[in-house]
Amino acid sequence: AAAKDKLGIALVGLGYYSTDLLAPALQQTEKCYLAGIVTGTPAKAEAWKAKYQIPDKNIYNYQNFDQIANNPDIDVVYVVLPPSMHREFVVRAAKAGKHVFCEKPMAPSVADCQAMIDACKKNKVKLAIGYRCQHDPNIQAVMKVAKAQKFGKVKMINSAAGYFDARTNHWKQNKALGGGVMGDMGVYALQGARLATGEEPVRVMAQASTTRPDIYKEVEETMMFMLEFPSGARAACQTSFGINMNYLQVNYEKGWLKLEPQSAYNGNKGSMSDGTVINFPIKSQQAKQMDEDCAALMNNTELIAPGEEGLRDIRVVEAIYKSVASGKTVTI
Ligand code: NDP
Repeated sequence: AAAKDKLGIALVGLGYYSTDLLAPALQQTEKCYLAGIVTGTPAKAEAWKAKYQIPDKNIYNYQNFDQIANNPDIDVVYVVLPPSMHREFVVRAAKAGKHVFCEKPMAPSVADCQAMIDACKKNKVKLAIGYRCQHDPNIQAVMKVAKAQKFGKVKMINSAAGYFDARTNHWKQNKALGGGVMGDMGVYALQGARLATGEEPVRVMAQASTTRPDIYKEVEETMMFMLEFPSGARAACQTSFGINMNYLQVNYEKGWLKLEPQSAYNGNKGSMSDGTVINFPIKSQQAKQMDEDCAALMNNTELIAPGEEGLRDIRVVEAIYKSVASGKTVTI
């Protein structure tokens, strides 16, 4: 078969992120387009079919999803479900022979992440995690400073990502569905520290809390965690569903870098101690992410954030919960 100039993407789970961000971004992409949908809500199937001209043969529900294996229009399945459902649908997509994009957090446990990576390997499909920020040139600027040791080694980091979530009955507050702020916004605070050092943390100390115990009964509303890196760098990180905050401050041996916000959809910007401004315009992070990931699939090149990168975060997230449970510093 002739190589396609655009890959067909099927979005799985038509909630907030698919509706407000990914589908609109797929109207701007050059290497892919919205070819199909997978939803448990028939009314959404009707609405999306009309809005995006999706043919009936490319519309699935969670029961008949596996038949997607026989659909040549779909090259990539993008899993945008609550986190505890990621593993099942990534594995089913892999078995159907489709490449997979999976939203963050990759899954609730390292074991889940490993099973997802293994299933994709076994079925010879690629797995990318929806770390849109790693495709943002403003975040890439932070990674470049670390790589070039522009200001010497990293000494201390302060990384925060949170917003006030007014909802009272959502999967983000439900443990069985993979809720809790650590996997949700916490991975942005964690990514800030990991990308700024270019290292993996080796020890963590964490504390969970909530100011709304009536709503956050099963999962934490706020997590504070301190990371130690092999070089000796340390990071103080905060994440919350109760506080609007989003910034990264990196103190190096010979200078500093600030980014605020650090993980917004657009407008991430900052400065460095030598006067360098970080302010690269970006049209759509999500469009750039999907185009770059699809280009990697078409050219068989490395993905920017493969499954292994999602697993690296979940390894730290597991250690964070262990630290909360034990009240002790945990070696990762
Ligand atoms: P929503 O709650 O808005 O949507 C989730 C959708 O999943 C639902 O609308 C539903 O779609 C489907 N679903 C199937 N079973 C369930 C269930 N038991 N409970 C709830 N929903 C179910 O979530 P979001 O869109 O905000 O988040 C989805 C994923 O995207 C998460 O992993 C989240 O972390 C990630 N995300 C990533 C962002 C980023 O910036 N990278 C930003 C926001 C979210 P249907 O009716 O079609 O079946």
